[in-house]
Amino acid sequence: MFDTLSDRLAATFKNLRGKGRLSDADIDATAREIRIALLEADVALPVVKDFIASVRERARGAEVSQALNPAQQVIKIVNEELVTILGGETRRLRFAKTAPTVIMLCGLQGAGKTTLAGKLAKWLAKNGHQPMLVAADLQRPNAVQQLQVVGERAGVVVYAPEPGSGVGDPVKVAKDSIEEARRRQHDIVIVDTAGRLGVDAEMMQQAADIRDAVSPDEILFVVDAMIGQDAVTTAQAFLDGVGFDGVVLTKLDGDARGGAALSVAKVTGRQIMFASNGEKLDDFDAFHPDRMASRILG
Ligand code: GDP
Repeated sequence: MFDTLSDRLAATFKNLRGKGRLSDADIDATAREIRIALLEADVALPVVKDFIASVRERARGAEVSQALNPAQQVIKIVNEELVTILGGETRRLRFAKTAPTVIMLCGLQGAGKTTLAGKLAKWLAKNGHQPMLVAADLQRPNAVQQLQVVGERAGVVVYAPEPGSGVGDPVKVAKDSIEEARRRQHDIVIVDTAGRLGVDAEMMQQAADIRDAVSPDEILFVVDAMIGQDAVTTAQAFLDGVGFDGVVLTKLDGDARGGAALSVAKVTGRQIMFASNGEKLDDFDAFHPDRMASRILG
């Protein structure tokens, strides 16, 4: 996903090799190149501006180092700034003091929520938990069935209204599921909610109602990293409409430029907690800002 950005940055740093000391002109030229590389990668403009300002300031103020040559010093600064915009430290899931921990997923239709629900459940099960998936997306035809299929593949229990039971209220389903989880001694409940193709008031309200009914310990906003700048506007809309604690990036295996995804953490002030990079249930892991920065820098 970040191949072009990586190549661009590598070319920029190559120009600095062999320099004994960086002049202000070198720093300006490098900052310009990095700016172009980030904008080309679709990173949001305000994020790019802050990033460049920090790099420039730190590069100017950098002590002449015995251990690092100027190029290495700039790479180190860029690396650290990338880690910062990606959220700094890795943030782990927050578990409830009294089980079950409730994790609610929100995001647009097609973002990959249902798939992610299965991935997260499988990952948690592998780490010794007994998660239960909850089908509170009663909007999209087949969403319940899709979650059941995903649950089966992940080997985890799915709580869903019986077909033909007439239960069409996702808020009730979500609420009842908590009781059921307690009864069946699941320590984690993952609630899949309905999305729409675009941001819409009714969907937001429903997600907010589900939130109020289940008081989640974590609300995760799931966003397709391929949707470009819309990732930032969508994230902002969900932050205002529902609120969320963490971000999950999906489809990092795609060939989009990915920079918008790099902007979400910074713009919303919420950390990226997981990344999804394929359709298979195992194509998923906790997100580590430092590892992602290293990957971008090659
Ligand atoms: P939802 O509407 O938010 O529940 O989205 P789905 O879970 O149904 O996913 C929408 C489509 O994206 C499906 O075809 C998934 O197989 C696909 N998908 C989900 N996550 C990923 C991913 O990380 N990489 C790729 N390539 N496809 C994904």
